[in-house]
Amino acid sequence: MPTPSIPIHAPHCVVGVIGGGQLGRMLALAARRMGVRTVIWTGGLEAPAVECADEVIDLPFDDPAALKDFCSRVTVATVEFENIPCHTLEAVAKCTGLHPSPHAICICQNREREKNFLRENNIPHTRYAVIANAADLAAAMQDLDGPSVLKTADFGYDGKGQVKLEGSEDPAEIWAAFDAPRAVLEAWVPFEKELSVMAVRGADGLTVTFDPAENRHRHRILDVSIIPARISPAVALEAAAIARRVAEALDYRGILGVEFFLKTDGTLLVNEIAPRPHNSGHHTLDACVTSQFEQQLRAVIGLPLGSTRLLNPVVMLNLLGDFWQDETTPPDWLPVFADSEASLHLYGKRRAIGRRKMGHVNFLGTTADAALARAEAMKAYWHSKP
Ligand code: AMP
Repeated sequence: MPTPSIPIHAPHCVVGVIGGGQLGRMLALAARRMGVRTVIWTGGLEAPAVECADEVIDLPFDDPAALKDFCSRVTVATVEFENIPCHTLEAVAKCTGLHPSPHAICICQNREREKNFLRENNIPHTRYAVIANAADLAAAMQDLDGPSVLKTADFGYDGKGQVKLEGSEDPAEIWAAFDAPRAVLEAWVPFEKELSVMAVRGADGLTVTFDPAENRHRHRILDVSIIPARISPAVALEAAAIARRVAEALDYRGILGVEFFLKTDGTLLVNEIAPRPHNSGHHTLDACVTSQFEQQLRAVIGLPLGSTRLLNPVVMLNLLGDFWQDETTPPDWLPVFADSEASLHLYGKRRAIGRRKMGHVNFLGTTADAALARAEAMKAYWHSKP
């Protein structure tokens, strides 16, 4: 039975979702199944979440009429991406309630605030310096003394707004070409693996974590997630403990993704925090008792959380636009359907532009290695097509 002190709105409640991307779509699908209605606030009716939501507000995030309309239609609100103006988040929190809080989202949407948060809370992170001009960059490059990566403070994700530096470049030239008012310079980490942990903190302040995912990237965008990660039990426990500390230090409510670098000496460094469902949690749709989307709804609504237990080893393969034969012609799906333990999720995007995230496939297997072999074979097959 739920703890009586937790306010229960559901079912029959309406969850407002700010943002209309694929995460909003999968949140809306999970809500449908649970008998929860959704109102999606997004710019553009082609957004992936639109066709799965109960209601849509198609207006910019700084439109006062949209804010009023959104608040009047929903019981409680959440976000499916973090790059929303902080003043809009604060206004939503005031008028209808927002989980996670504007404070938590505003920290995670900006790399400078995020890194400072990690430092202030003694959470292990990469060495970094805040950069506002060429002189800052010159000093930081000298201090880090080796390879590093310059990242824009705002609006950075999937490797966007990043330049890798070897250390011998001219700071003035680099800064002049870098199109951002503020940035962070991070030491380049020669990691052994990248990991992530999805953590959910409920309305009662209890936190649960999903098993760590081992993540491989292609062009700095997530390519595959392997679960269980091929790491020692001690590293898995440490990653979960750090994710829990992050959730508690943010006084978080909802789901969050913590990305890590695992160094060869076995230590973990937090790379970034996503204050929402995350690409490396998509396997939970087919391989865990409760999906990351259902957990988000449970936390936001004020219901007890579900089990995070992994039911089966799984590999999630991201379907980026470069698998498409052209912008409107998808790859051959037959091999996916012929694989009786693979499950295809498409986001309904009409055009495969560049390396856009178009969908994903979850491959269940008797072991993670067996599932990975099938995912790799699928990639090789699609890449071999003209
Ligand atoms: P980010 O957008 O910060 O998650 O960066 C995208 C990807 O670039 C990461 O998942 C890593 O593969 C790589 N990367 C970013 N920062 C670093 C770093 N400091 N050292 C090594 N690799 C990095």
